[in-house]
Amino acid sequence: MFHIYIYTPLYNLWNYIPHIIEHCAYNIKSEKDFFKYGNEEFWNSTYYSYFILETNDKSILAEFIENLSNTPLKELIQYEHCIIKKENKHPEYSQKLINKIWKELYWKKFNFNQTWKVLYSKVLNYHKKYYKKDNMIILENNIKYYTWKLDTKLKLHKNIKINIEKETELIYIFKHSIETLFTIYLISDLIDNFLYYNSRFKNKEYFRTDSIYWDFEDYIYISIDINNIKLSENINKSFISEYINNNLNKKDYLSNKDFDGSCMVKYWYTLSNEHKKELLINLEKYYAKLISMF
Ligand SMILES: [Zn+2]
Repeated sequence: MFHIYIYTPLYNLWNYIPHIIEHCAYNIKSEKDFFKYGNEEFWNSTYYSYFILETNDKSILAEFIENLSNTPLKELIQYEHCIIKKENKHPEYSQKLINKIWKELYWKKFNFNQTWKVLYSKVLNYHKKYYKKDNMIILENNIKYYTWKLDTKLKLHKNIKINIEKETELIYIFKHSIETLFTIYLISDLIDNFLYYNSRFKNKEYFRTDSIYWDFEDYIYISIDINNIKLSENINKSFISEYINNNLNKKDYLSNKDFDGSCMVKYWYTLSNEHKKELLINLEKYYAKLISMF
């Protein structure tokens, strides 16, 4: 597998241009193309885009990188513009959440699901600036590790309450740092596991993922449904120890591509397994720190 990450910031505070360029990574004109690329995972965040290729074939990777760096065709952009229009009609819950948090942090008029008129020259200029081969990070080839001592202080920027679709979410926002990003990811995963265990195996309830963590270029947030806050702040010590021990024994657990990719884009390095382990082993302490902020 290959994981390709590219820094693609918002354009004039909108994500339309980086989004449409990410869509143009597919130019599927035949059944053969479809089976080669049609099921790959491509995605666009608020400051980077990523492309996951299932293959281990380096020639397919080279061809894909070549396609990404080629100027997207006008017809393809027009075609994908119609797709994005339809995509934006039905934003997912997490996208609605992003919009609301973004408005709190940066700019009131922000809309992650805004569709623009096609401005071909602007799309081309943006593509030329960011889709250079040198800017494309292939995790399997380009990974670099952070070597400094970890700074594990969680610095809360602010907390807010947001209503979406009759739900209330409590959002804890932190200043971006490589350690905070991994710590928040661990805490979010721990809370999810605990909520899942409790609702599914103790309370006869179906469970959907509940705490959501994500990052913007400057901030990291974790969002918890207000109905789950009591449970989330009462995770027992033995559950936390089981979580830590179990994950220390899993071979792949510490290799989180999403985390490594966004760190490589933002900092040009990521945490080594030793540093990730250090954070995992001390998870109880960081969890206690977070719940003291609830
Ligand atoms: Zn899309």
